[in-house]
Amino acid sequence: MSYIRRENPAEGVARIVLARPEKKNAQNPGLLYELDEAFLTASNESDVKVIILAADGTDFSSGHDLSDEFTVPGNRPVATMGGHLDVGMAEAHYAFECDAYMGLSRRWRDIPKPTIAAAHGRSIAAGLMLLWPMDIIVASEEATFADPVTAFGVNGVEYFTHVWEVGHRKAREMLFTGESLSAQEAYRLGMVNHVVARDRLEKFALELAVKISQRPSFGLRLAKESVNRTLDAQGQSIALESALALHNLGHASALARHGELAITAGRDTIRNESRHP
Ligand code: ZN
Repeated sequence: MSYIRRENPAEGVARIVLARPEKKNAQNPGLLYELDEAFLTASNESDVKVIILAADGTDFSSGHDLSDEFTVPGNRPVATMGGHLDVGMAEAHYAFECDAYMGLSRRWRDIPKPTIAAAHGRSIAAGLMLLWPMDIIVASEEATFADPVTAFGVNGVEYFTHVWEVGHRKAREMLFTGESLSAQEAYRLGMVNHVVARDRLEKFALELAVKISQRPSFGLRLAKESVNRTLDAQGQSIALESALALHNLGHASALARHGELAITAGRDTIRNESRHP
């Protein structure tokens, strides 16, 4: 593992850490599939009751690493049957996103154990796709959250649960403006469970994990699955698939107009918007 670190900070608790701080934990396919492997391992360990997802460095995650290849490592998808990964641009990219983005995020939402994300610094665009599938989000006071990718000519990140996370009004505003939500704003909107000082984040998340780990695993699993089924009864899974199709219409349009999967000027827009004040 070169992008992910696994720790065992307390009995019954596994901590998985994004360990690519020099790139602000930008997500290349290697990181995503290593993360999936780490989640799968922790899911299968009977003595692990709760999983924490945390990150090294100044920021939780700066989003997808756009400088890397959009390919499934080894051409072995884990969340789909693949299909068309190796054909033309838009078609192959859709197959890639179905597996590496939507597929993995949905797998992680359905991990049969409670998961807690500890977010600090910035979570930009795909950073949200690591946070939102987790069950509980704890943020440090200076944490911010943004999905600025309309600048690329797409609707938002591929795991489009914005409306459930912040409500449809704020979802529209964050998508239309690309601006960040503060930790306090995210807390007020219900996207974040707790906001704590930066130097307390790790301890707070661990104490919460230990508290949860005292309860019977099967009860926890059934509670989690019930919440997830409720979301799906509200239409979340269908909405996600629809949004991913529209997202890939955006990619195909950018490809036709500009020869790239995203409007390249969007990178400068996002870079400027994402600077710390
Ligand atoms: Zn995309």
